[in-house]
Amino acid sequence: MVEKAVEKAEEVQRYTMFINGEWVEPRSRKYFKVIYPFNQQVVAEVAEASHDDVERAVRAARQAFDDGGWSRMAASERGRMLWRLADLIEGEAERLARLETLCNGKLYREMLGQLKVIPNYFRFFAGLADKILGDAKYLPDKPNVLNYTIREPYGVVSIIVPWNSPILLTTFSLAPALACGNTVVVKPSKNAPLGVLALAELFQRAGFPPGVFNIVTGPGQIGEMLAGHPGVDKVCFTGGTDTGKEVAKKTADNLTRYVLELGGKSPQIIFDDCDVEAAISGVVSGIIAATGQTCVAGSRLLVQKGLYEEFLERLRNVFEKIRLGDPMDPQTQMGPVATREQLEKIIYYIETAKKEGARLLYGGERPRDPVLSEGLFILPTIFADVRPDMTIWREEIFGPVLAATSFETEEQAVKLANSVEYGLAAGIWTRDIYKAHRVARNVQAGTVWINMYRSLSYASPFGGFKKSGVGRELGLEAINEFTQLKSIWVELTGQKRDPFILG
Ligand code: NAD
Repeated sequence: MVEKAVEKAEEVQRYTMFINGEWVEPRSRKYFKVIYPFNQQVVAEVAEASHDDVERAVRAARQAFDDGGWSRMAASERGRMLWRLADLIEGEAERLARLETLCNGKLYREMLGQLKVIPNYFRFFAGLADKILGDAKYLPDKPNVLNYTIREPYGVVSIIVPWNSPILLTTFSLAPALACGNTVVVKPSKNAPLGVLALAELFQRAGFPPGVFNIVTGPGQIGEMLAGHPGVDKVCFTGGTDTGKEVAKKTADNLTRYVLELGGKSPQIIFDDCDVEAAISGVVSGIIAATGQTCVAGSRLLVQKGLYEEFLERLRNVFEKIRLGDPMDPQTQMGPVATREQLEKIIYYIETAKKEGARLLYGGERPRDPVLSEGLFILPTIFADVRPDMTIWREEIFGPVLAATSFETEEQAVKLANSVEYGLAAGIWTRDIYKAHRVARNVQAGTVWINMYRSLSYASPFGGFKKSGVGRELGLEAINEFTQLKSIWVELTGQKRDPFILG
């Protein structure tokens, strides 16, 4: 029945929701459309969840957690199941990547690249499942006490993700959450739910108990319900900073724990002693890849004065040659943006930059090529001489728009880099190893790349400084994020203790 639901959806078509191990109709009987950004064709219809469906999903996850079939399963067995899931994802990588591209318009080869590494994210946490160890403590001054700590799963974790890399971003939270014994309810973006929905079939094939993995699909209000739900023990939210603030407010009544992976306005700092070719390639990867729709987009360019004009000129030459087109075509270098709303937002920022006096060096409009007319395309864009008080310097655009400026000294570069509210990532380009590490320490960002950009690993913790997030995912550190620590005390003498003193 599950396979049928997914197969049918592959033909266009209809996806129901996955709750308690079954494909279920939404109580509302309503479905929303998913549209391919390249040509605006409807590629699927997906169930629109309502309050009742959220209740069903949280109840299923709670029951699955409480009955212990997953949370108290031998940890090595949990690891084996996650490994099995990883193998199934590997076998379906092409189909999953295609579904992602159909929803968000990102290059198929980019999505396939992600799907090829995602199994290893699951394998890393599968391997950690049986290494979440307790600790025996020797308590000084308390020789008659045995104290030890254990790490326990939170319970029900809700995972709310955006449209830009749905399966990868779900995996960031899902793999460690499950390895630690939590059960989950995932809420993908309305724009890009198909890849995450197709994962459900793989969970069934891997033999996960019902209720361990649930999906509700629908608009932001569904995420809001999950964030404020008393049956949810931890919320993992990835999305915009303003939405993240709303999520944090919603969790307040129940003091629900949260991890927030939010927006960015990351600087690329180019010193005049850098390898210019490598730096140009890094800047391109930071702002053109995924059409600038990545949280770590290197959207602010800081170039040392002596190199500034030359660097911009060379960058402009590269931007001119970027091939726009169908994301499914292996020759395409930049696809459309994902939604009309996103395109309008990008155009708004371009117009604002012009009004505020930034110098338009390249792009700044939609391409005229008739082949691209059906798609949501915008030319890659560079603004030069951007000042820190300008809107495009401060606000996240989430599109291929680069805001460039120059600096003279290392101190000025750091000050400019830190002059915004965000702190997700930064790139530093120099051949001077001392300077590279000094700047890496002084720049306020959760991830810093030196002479490289836009690289991730399951083994390295990821998260934001300042308004780019709260908490860390990935790496060994993720285990702390998805477990809570309990301290257990044991009296060793067998004697009665004085009830009137703190002993
Ligand atoms: P968004 O904030 O609009 O939506 C993200 C998810 O939250 C969606 O599933 C949406 O339906 C849901 N949502 C919307 N309103 C909600 C509410 N009030 N309560 C709970 N959930 C709600 O983001 P988007 O436009 O889908 O994605 C783009 C943003 O995501 C960018 O700001 C980008 O930087 C950020 N992002 C961050 C990371 C990271 O790891 N830091 C990664 C990718 C994207």
